Amino acid sequence: AEMFGQLTSGLEAAWSKLKGEEVLTKENIAEPMRDIRRALLEADVSLPVVRRFVQTVSDQAAGVGLIRGVKPDQQLVKIVHDELVKLMGGEVSDLVFSKSGTTVILLAGLQGVGKTTVCAKLAFYLKKLGKSCMMIAADVYRPAAIDQLMILGDQVGVPVYKEGTEVKPSQIARNGLEEAIKRRIDVVIVDTAGRLQIDKAMMDELKQVKQATNPTEVFLVVDAMTGQEAAALVTTFNIEIGITGAILTKLDGDSRGGAALSVREVSGKPIKLVGRGERLEDLEPFYPDRMAGRILG
Ligand code: GDP
Repeated sequence: AEMFGQLTSGLEAAWSKLKGEEVLTKENIAEPMRDIRRALLEADVSLPVVRRFVQTVSDQAAGVGLIRGVKPDQQLVKIVHDELVKLMGGEVSDLVFSKSGTTVILLAGLQGVGKTTVCAKLAFYLKKLGKSCMMIAADVYRPAAIDQLMILGDQVGVPVYKEGTEVKPSQIARNGLEEAIKRRIDVVIVDTAGRLQIDKAMMDELKQVKQATNPTEVFLVVDAMTGQEAAALVTTFNIEIGITGAILTKLDGDSRGGAALSVREVSGKPIKLVGRGERLEDLEPFYPDRMAGRILG
């Protein structure tokens, strides 16, 4: 399925109602705005976000008046495009590195969202930027997770620091960081344990790992397929442990768009990177303008 396909066609219904109009008016945008509202809700964008978005777009559309040479449907497309870009945070949000020494990136996320894959993809991405990397296996509950990270480390060509499953994650992270500093590694990426759902033990552990490593970036990895639930999770993790952004995975699936559109507005935190496939190279920065372009077809 084409990504956001349903959202794109839902929005097309809105523009099509303006064919033959001369100018945007309060009256003739009423129906297109209902289409936009419906399309966003069907894409699983959270209701408060949809309400505010529709209000902003309506206000602007009713105020633009006649623009020579630009048809009303095109005017509305432009307004929606610009508001979508703003909704997703405007500019691309770059990764932050420490000014000197080893940068720590901490990854958190529920089980199965693609966190371990992201860990390796991120190492691959940073290596291409010319940075040396190390991954730290701080998921002590699933021995398979450590093995998976070792295999990925081999594929990417970066070392993996591990101490098995008997040592506390915060201790592993601290020791791993020490090792990385000794080896003058530019960036360490800490893979933490995922759980099926949020619980206090998970949050406490993340807080301890964070405290032990003083990361410049704390990312929550969220699955785009979970729609507005992803935005709610980003909010919760931010309140609980303090995060710097989100990484949205599985954008290549038939995600409806709700996560990409809701995360920033709901949580106040940017989406920094997106995963769009299972291969190592399938991770890229999140560009709000490109995403808006894709949504509009
Ligand atoms: P974790 O439990 O969060 O560490 O999740 P994993 O990294 O083990 O990934 C779970 C599954 O999702 C694996 O089968 C991955 O190949 C798959 N996966 C991860 N990221 C993506 C993505 O961006 N697109 C697709 N299609 N699959 C992904």
